[in-house]
Amino acid sequence: MLEMPENLRAQLRSQRLMQKQDTSRIRPILQKAGLRPTKQRLMLGQFLLSGHHQHISADDLHLLVLQCGFSMSLATVYNTLNQFAEAGLIRKISVSGQRTFFDTNARNHQHFYFEDEDRMIDIGGAALMLSPAPQAPEGYTISKIDILVSLKKVENKQL
Ligand SMILES: [Zn+2]
Repeated sequence: MLEMPENLRAQLRSQRLMQKQDTSRIRPILQKAGLRPTKQRLMLGQFLLSGHHQHISADDLHLLVLQCGFSMSLATVYNTLNQFAEAGLIRKISVSGQRTFFDTNARNHQHFYFEDEDRMIDIGGAALMLSPAPQAPEGYTISKIDILVSLKKVENKQL
């Protein structure tokens, strides 16, 4: 594979972003979502809300923040990610109950999850869209639809 892994690409992009220290684009996004633009939210917003679509765990984002020379606790990263998700800026996706990814695309879409590599990508097109969406029970409305297709590598059998 000649392609640079998504994580590394995102990392380089974030580093360039952080060097600019420009929060002027992030501030109105936070305010529109009803979040006070605190220092932490602005910083993480630069990583997450710059328009690039990525799937990242709190641990990986925390690592990225540290690599960029900033200090922030994992708990703060995790809390801020949850606040972003609650505000509808990003999407929280749980994998097998314990792993959680945050998706910078907050709209309904589906994912392939690579079990061996612990990473996910979008499923292209609308192949698995539930259409029409099922009727929610009375008194309820569908808040989001998550479809996650888990993958594992096919064993390469030598002939
Ligand atoms: Zn996605």
